[in-house]
Amino acid sequence: MVLDVHVLGTASARPTPERAVSGSLVKGPDGIAIVDCGEGFQTRYALQRRRLKRHSVGETLKPSAVDVLAFTHGHLDHTWGALPWLQSMDLENRQQPLLIIGPTSAEVAEALLNDEPLPEAAPSADLARQWMAWFALGGDMIRFPIRWVLGVVNADRWVEVDPTSGKARLLEEMPQPEGWGNSSLRPVPTQHTVPSCGWMVQQKAMAGKFDRARADEMQLTTKQRAMVARGENITDANGETIAASWFRGGERAAVSVLISGDTATTPEAWDDSLAPTLLIHEATFLEEQHDKAEEHMHSTAAGAVASAQAVGATYLALTHYSNRIKNSKTPEDEAKTAADGVAVVALNDNDRLVVDDDGDLTHLKWGSEGWVLANIPPNR
Ligand SMILES: [Zn+2]
Ligand SMILES: [Zn+2]
Repeated sequence: MVLDVHVLGTASARPTPERAVSGSLVKGPDGIAIVDCGEGFQTRYALQRRRLKRHSVGETLKPSAVDVLAFTHGHLDHTWGALPWLQSMDLENRQQPLLIIGPTSAEVAEALLNDEPLPEAAPSADLARQWMAWFALGGDMIRFPIRWVLGVVNADRWVEVDPTSGKARLLEEMPQPEGWGNSSLRPVPTQHTVPSCGWMVQQKAMAGKFDRARADEMQLTTKQRAMVARGENITDANGETIAASWFRGGERAAVSVLISGDTATTPEAWDDSLAPTLLIHEATFLEEQHDKAEEHMHSTAAGAVASAQAVGATYLALTHYSNRIKNSKTPEDEAKTAADGVAVVALNDNDRLVVDDDGDLTHLKWGSEGWVLANIPPNR
């Protein structure tokens, strides 16, 4: 099992001929999580499927495997492609349930729970406002089951909105995507001009590799090997227990990918115990526009490195470039100069990042001839 990330847009608010607005997906052991869904996302998703068919035969991104659409915040460059895509899924007769989830403010959550109008102070980009608009545009008529969930991330308070009535109910905890058992989705607070959070997909820790040499040494029969490999203890000829745990190394790390969305550098809530294997972080600006980054609660490439260090990430991938950044090499160089112990890559549209079970990263760079493979050794 691996975590396979497809980055389908690396522009910030304005797309360019080479870069689309935000929208990524993480394919894990349980299914696909979409993180953000800017303008034209459904077309980009379909094109990526076609590329896979041509260049990575056997690998698929079936829309029916999409279990969750997670928003980092409500700015339109992260959301405008969602409703058209949902309507297409409905036309394609999707039956599978879908979780749609994103951050809001405490005030908005309270208003929803009390069935009151949304507070005027809530920004137009608040996801609650957008969802109400989508419901009015036909989102309430979609026939496959959707759970619309908003969260006050810092308070770990989650509400589910009923699209037909606009009323909300309080949930005991953040729901997980339906059927997920080998991985989990968790929100990570970020700091932006509207309620925001990053999303981390974490694969559960796995047992270490089976120690074949030890099984040979102990002259286990085929049947005995199969049993201990499955985790069952066995009894030898002398009645002594042979523990299955002797044949497994320590637990392998719970590998994870955190897509942080738009954020000022080093959000307050971040500490290095989170330790994602891979952090995908915005680099809207370069250091020469440091002030602008601070003013708009965005990050520079060097700021992304500081974030990666704050959260204990092994790998950092840069995305969400402003139009001033013509070539991803520029933010990559800036980040590499600042990076001390963090391995950095800079993304372009349609790139893939594959995190394997040992926590190693492969960067598959998209080019006209297919994906070109680059193994990225961590610096530490
Ligand atoms: Zn953005
Ligand atoms: Zn934004």
